[in-house]
Amino acid sequence: MRPRPTPPQPWQPAVVDRRFLADAEAHRRDAPRFCPRCGAQMALASEFWEADDRRFYCACTGCGWSGEIIPTGEGVIGHELEH
Ligand SMILES: [Zn+2]
Repeated sequence: MRPRPTPPQPWQPAVVDRRFLADAEAHRRDAPRFCPRCGAQMALASEFWEADDRRFYCACTGCGWSGEIIPTGEGVIGHELEH
C-alpha cells in the first residue's frame, strides 16, 4: 500500500510560480525583522509599492507599534533641496 500524498499546506503552494522567486528572495532579504521601538521580533512586515517606493507596513505585538518602513538603498534621502 502506497503512502497517501501529503496535501499542500496553505503556506506551501502545490506549484511554485517561478516568476516571483526573485521578489520573494528580495522580500526575505529586506523585510524589517525587529521593532524600531522595542527591538522585539516584528510580527508583520507586509510589502507593497507606492510609485517607485518599496514600503513595508510593519506591526509589533510586543509593544503595539505599527508603521511603515521605506528602504532608501545605499544612503539616506534628506528632505532639503540640494544646494
Ligand atoms: Zn515593539
